[in-house]
Amino acid sequence: MIQCLKCQAENTSDREKCQECGADLLPGEGISDRLGNLVIGILAGILSGIAAYVMIESDIELPDCLIISPQACMFTTLAAPIMGIASAVRKTPLYQRYATRARRHVELDPEQAIADFSRALETAPEKERAGLLKERTTLYEKLGMEEEATRDELDYTSADGAYAGGRGFARFFGADDDVYAAGMGEEDRKKMVAAGRVKALGYCSKCGRVVELNPKLRCPDHESPKPKALKFVLPDEVEGAIPEVLNEYTKERRTRRNIIIIVALVLSVPLSCCLFSIAMQNLSKAISTATATASRIPIVPSPSPTQKPLSTPEPKIIMPSPTSGAGGYLTDASIMSTGWLEDESLLVTLHVPQCVDGNYRAVVGGNEFTCEILENYPDRLYCHGTGVKSGDQVEASWYLEGIESPVYETIFIAP
Ligand SMILES: [Zn+2]
Ligand SMILES: [Zn+2]
Repeated sequence: MIQCLKCQAENTSDREKCQECGADLLPGEGISDRLGNLVIGILAGILSGIAAYVMIESDIELPDCLIISPQACMFTTLAAPIMGIASAVRKTPLYQRYATRARRHVELDPEQAIADFSRALETAPEKERAGLLKERTTLYEKLGMEEEATRDELDYTSADGAYAGGRGFARFFGADDDVYAAGMGEEDRKKMVAAGRVKALGYCSKCGRVVELNPKLRCPDHESPKPKALKFVLPDEVEGAIPEVLNEYTKERRTRRNIIIIVALVLSVPLSCCLFSIAMQNLSKAISTATATASRIPIVPSPSPTQKPLSTPEPKIIMPSPTSGAGGYLTDASIMSTGWLEDESLLVTLHVPQCVDGNYRAVVGGNEFTCEILENYPDRLYCHGTGVKSGDQVEASWYLEGIESPVYETIFIAP
């Protein structure tokens, strides 16, 4: 029931206007409240001004940790009257109108008061919720609604504006009031768990499941590691909360894993740059070694041209016509002889005036030929392989191991 402030008539709780006199049943702050706010603001300003004047004139040394200083007092001198004026002319927020009506009904009709506090909590800004929760808790306790009282008390421990008195004290001495409130909240929750009014749940990675925690907020079987995804619930809500805790734990773990992946990606960019530069260095080293080998000019006695690399059969020699020798490292090379070996493979002898070193192979008419250098003839590359037919005009390319492009190319007619 809502009692009309004007005519004291009883109205049902769904009415917005009094059924007797038509007065607003959810009024904003009255003129006296507004004037009161204005006077308090102006008085606070005057007092701060006096305090600032006294501090500056008397030159009192104040300890650094206190937040009181002439500057702070001067700021209040200006700010307090402005806030007083603002609160005197503002439109009363909806949550405050519900809260005001709730307070008027605490004695008259506690159930109406609880309903109004609940409506106020729905729209109140975060900072204001703690105070409203506390007022509703007192009412629940008075009506013997223990479960509801416990839930509000639990919500209060983590509410934004909770422990306002202690917070102010902490701020006054230069401490972090958020840290203070978080610590107080945890202490209160532990007390509620110890008293059995609230159950603490968390995921224990050693048990591999959600467990009910002890009053120290640890797994009863394992002191460490710290349980994850903590949740506080009323005793008869444990069953339903277990999947929620598990869900929360999975979400936290996924977030952690994503962070690890991002860090790994960020770190891998410089690492892959590093590997790439090492690879490039190795490649350029290989190229310069090859060039150095190819450009070495040794002085060796020219072997007699009648000598044959393999004694039989007598290769039928035709004069090859190199069509392209440029583009490789063996620019002065030329085909010295071609001939058939006993096993019907073709032998191609390449003459390299500056001598050769290293492992070579050749591709003749699309067939792989293996090459070797005989100790006595360092200026010749003997390459042999199968797949070429007599009389074919074939393209031949020579490759040095580790280098992709050919070091010498030519075209000749197979004997
Ligand atoms: Zn009325
Ligand atoms: Zn455990």
